[in-house]
Amino acid sequence: MRKVPHRSQPLYEGKAKILLPGPDPSTLVQHFKDDATAFNNAKRATIEGKGVLNNLISEYMFQALSEIGLANHFLHRINMREQLIRKLEMIPLEVVVRNIAAGSFCERYGCKEGTVLPRSIVEYCLKDDKLADPPVSEDHITAFGWAHPQEIDDMLSLALRANDFLQGVFRAVGLRLVDFKLEFGRSVEDNGDVAIWLADEISPDTCRLWDRDSQEKLDKDRFRHDLGKVERAYREVARRLGVLPSNSALKNSGAAKKSAAEKNGKSSESIRSVE
Ligand code: ADP
Ligand code: UDP
Repeated sequence: MRKVPHRSQPLYEGKAKILLPGPDPSTLVQHFKDDATAFNNAKRATIEGKGVLNNLISEYMFQALSEIGLANHFLHRINMREQLIRKLEMIPLEVVVRNIAAGSFCERYGCKEGTVLPRSIVEYCLKDDKLADPPVSEDHITAFGWAHPQEIDDMLSLALRANDFLQGVFRAVGLRLVDFKLEFGRSVEDNGDVAIWLADEISPDTCRLWDRDSQEKLDKDRFRHDLGKVERAYREVARRLGVLPSNSALKNSGAAKKSAAEKNGKSSESIRSVE
């Protein structure tokens, strides 16, 4: 965790995002950075504009999921790089849903990249960089107390529902949703009930997206495997979804941040310093 100067002290700085206090204790501001990492931090770079694109794409996805009633943390977008989210107690798991064989899955199970799986496969990994996010079973999850059996059931059904819906959303714009990673968090309701919410982000950083016709990769694999034109690929996803801001809006995103920061009574200088 790197210390960054900011308009208010960050609560956490991760590899791709910064979490800041929200206007009330039940919320957080999620700030999307241009930083990219791969292979458990071994590879790092800055992809100019990535944070803005991921913020907009993720907003679109979470809003669409809200429209079908899928419980998620997204409240509203604040500016070009930030969104207000419900603060959750995160479950330390990465839930990966796969529709088509790609990446390490191919090596692990001896499949050819691009093989359409007979059904969607859900995998769990422990979210722990020091351990390189090892795959874990439901037994590990309950034995170590990372989540209760009911919470695993809830995450599984939310992940599969999100997958069905998101495959359709991407298909409508000529993209194949190959696989993706989700994170979940819990909130404790006033009556003591625990609710599970979809959290974090849905973007080309966390999804493999291939063009339906050319099979061109339009996601973070372009960065992982030095395929070039990374920002252009993310921008193409945003364009197809209809969330790509005009060039002037992108140029003015500094101004957008400034006005949002000023609304909160905070200086925008420190925001610029993390870019
Ligand atoms: P990482 O921690 O893996 O480097 P990021 O840079 O994306 O990842 O940081 C974002 C952090 O915010 C992640 O650790 C993620 O688990 C956490 N997070 C996402 N959504 C929420 C939420 N609603 N409440 C609290 N934490 C969240
Ligand atoms: N993924 C992610 N964050 C991670 C690990 C995976 O967003 O820390 C996403 C990744 O972009 C891909 C899917 O989850 O869409 C499956 O990733 P996996 O870890 O299997 O990557 P691989 O090892 O196959 O390259």
